[in-house]
Amino acid sequence: MNPVIAVVGAGFSGSMAALHLLAALPRSWSVLLCEKGGSFGRGLAYGTDAPAHLLNLRAANMSAYPDRPEHFAAWLGGLPEDERSGVAVTPAGTFAPRALYGRYLAELLTEAVVTAGAPRLHLVHDTITDLVPIAGGYRLRTEGGAVYPVAGAVLAMGNLTGPGAPPSGHRLDPWRPEDFGRLHPDRPVLVVGTGLTMVDAVASLRGRGFAGRIVALSRRGLVPSVHAPTKPWPVPDLKAADLASLTRLTRRIRAEVAAAQRSGRDWRDVIDALRPIIGYLWRSLPAAERARFLRHLRPFWDGHRHRAAPPAAAAIADEIAAGRLDVRAGRILAIADEPGEAVVTIRPRGGAADEMLAVQGIVDATGIGRIDETGDPLLRRLVVRGLARPDAFGLGLAAGKDYRLHAERSNRLWTLGPLLRGTLWECVAVPDIRSQAAEVAALVAAEVEGLSGSPRRAASV
Ligand SMILES: Cc1cc2nc3c(=O)[nH]c(=O)nc-3n(C[C@H](O)[C@H](O)[C@H](O)COP(=O)(O)OP(=O)(O)OC[C@H]3O[C@@H](n4cnc5c(N)ncnc54)[C@H](O)[C@@H]3O)c2cc1C
Repeated sequence: MNPVIAVVGAGFSGSMAALHLLAALPRSWSVLLCEKGGSFGRGLAYGTDAPAHLLNLRAANMSAYPDRPEHFAAWLGGLPEDERSGVAVTPAGTFAPRALYGRYLAELLTEAVVTAGAPRLHLVHDTITDLVPIAGGYRLRTEGGAVYPVAGAVLAMGNLTGPGAPPSGHRLDPWRPEDFGRLHPDRPVLVVGTGLTMVDAVASLRGRGFAGRIVALSRRGLVPSVHAPTKPWPVPDLKAADLASLTRLTRRIRAEVAAAQRSGRDWRDVIDALRPIIGYLWRSLPAAERARFLRHLRPFWDGHRHRAAPPAAAAIADEIAAGRLDVRAGRILAIADEPGEAVVTIRPRGGAADEMLAVQGIVDATGIGRIDETGDPLLRRLVVRGLARPDAFGLGLAAGKDYRLHAERSNRLWTLGPLLRGTLWECVAVPDIRSQAAEVAALVAAEVEGLSGSPRRAASV
């Protein structure tokens, strides 16, 4: 077999890394793209088939390629009319169903398999459970018992899922909406979390015929804001003093928003203008201030930064106005599982008396898990063996600017996408990941260029 680079995970990050690796690696090298889920290319975000699950970025921002910004919009525009159903054209831009975006990615991958030829791109449909260091690389093991020697690996395992909170026998997984079809059509359901996952969960519940009351609960009860038309605003000129503390930085950004609004502009223009420098802001803030951000400001930031498509936000507003969705601020004190229902004790924010709520199901829409909660066998083993290290905040893996994992020993392991959240912060959306995929492939290719063709002859790993 040709020398091989493995890519673990075939969501957007892994699929794009694999495509760029095929272009960047010497022709004698192959790529092993490994995926445990049902399909290649789609991952968690674009594996949905619900038409109401829209992209939360405009089509114009969703090209898979950093150097071809119109690529997705052109693909979408080229579809026959009857295949564009669900595409929402709004004053704030065009928003496509995520299922359609999944199809776009699957087509890119299929094209690559065909053009790269079978010998260069190998698809492994299995869970990767281990990467054991050997001379010149690693022995990659799968749950199904297969073993592949690889020279290095790119970890693209995406959004971490935790053990599932809150603990209840009536817990429902928002990513398994088929389970919603089993619910009684009108006994209440609790959704824990009020962000974009809640927006999806409400759409899925209604899409599966659930007509009853939904209570959505989070610490602050903040729902995502909505996209609106925006215009470019200059990147704020931040001084070193602005970055010394979170308080100063927040004050400075609020002042910028106020200045924009005084000149008739929208707060979204300023938030979008920050985008190119968010990584720099994250790295510049002292670690204690970054931790404060995660404790106190994150829900506010997420609500403004990760906005809902207008039709999705309108559906939530209609639900609230009709009294079918009750968004609450508070926290869960206890859950008592009973046959057929869970009795949840809620402490409302602001000191009102505790409330008891009997619900038939609890949808966990709290979002993304932490590295110490992950059940992923590969990540757990790499951390235990010192081949990978959690980032300072436990949100993902620690890595350098070259995407290489920080570890107790030198390695040929790289990562990209949501696993870099604690390192880069702004790294989970398509416009961030598409650049990372191109960069990481170029760095891997530069490293292997010095090798003479076989992983066995590589320098010590
Ligand atoms: C519901 C949702 C909607 C989103 N919508 C948008 C949007 O509209 N626009 C946008 O820009 N961003 C959106 N995002 C952000 C999203 O994180 C990125 O766009 C992108 O999809 C991340 O892809 P990924 O490949 O890194 O992660 P994932 O999609 O999570 O893919 C990781 C893959 O790795 C596989 N895997 C994990 N462990 C193993 C293992 N041990 N062995 C084999 N396979 C493994 C998983 O099965 C999975 O398929 C959304 C995210 C979510 C969760």
